[in-house]
Amino acid sequence: MNLLKIVVLSSLTLVLAACNTPSTVAARTDGIKFGEAKQDLAAGNQRYLVGGMQSHTWQAERVIQTGEFGQSPSIGVLTCADSRTPPELIFDCGVGDLFVVRMAGNVEDPATAGTFEYGFAALGMHTILVMGHTKCGAVTAAVDGQPLPGNMPAFMDMITPALAGLAKPTIGPDGMPNMTPAAEANVRWQLKQLLARSAMLTKAQKEGKLAVLCAMYDVDTGEVRFLD
Ligand SMILES: [Zn+2]
Repeated sequence: MNLLKIVVLSSLTLVLAACNTPSTVAARTDGIKFGEAKQDLAAGNQRYLVGGMQSHTWQAERVIQTGEFGQSPSIGVLTCADSRTPPELIFDCGVGDLFVVRMAGNVEDPATAGTFEYGFAALGMHTILVMGHTKCGAVTAAVDGQPLPGNMPAFMDMITPALAGLAKPTIGPDGMPNMTPAAEANVRWQLKQLLARSAMLTKAQKEGKLAVLCAMYDVDTGEVRFLD
């Protein structure tokens, strides 16, 4: 055990011993509770929006805790690889809170399903959030339907079925096609596909052991909007 660990663990022990009421650190150490994920994530996003983020204040202690005692992330997040959509920042979460899969266009595949099955079965993850975002290049590529080089058609082909029945994008105030309806349809589609692929996750959801959420992130405002 290095000196940093000793100092932080000693400090944490003293803090916890000094008060029986949970401190901010202690409360977050317990993770985000089942049934409170949406509320907790929304609150974190509000802190992010107003520059009142708190996670940095407990990150060092959380590193020590999770390194020493293991992880038990509460929420699995499937979101885009887009550099503007880092879930830990957007939701003001700490190390050990989120079990994250990021793919262009927040597409799901067998490895995604397996990742969340592992999170649920082995780590105690109780909620899955699929989050798309505005101005998504992958969704735009799928809507445009233009040929892409290399392996890029792999994610595009996984988005295309989500767009069935959608009207042609309207032109927004900025003169650009509004891809938000397509991105929302893709979020719902990927969640549906994920559950269809995983008997374990579907069973858990039906038994009330797993909650699922959909959301859209606005890259212009930083705001998360949960979908019904
Ligand atoms: Zn994207």
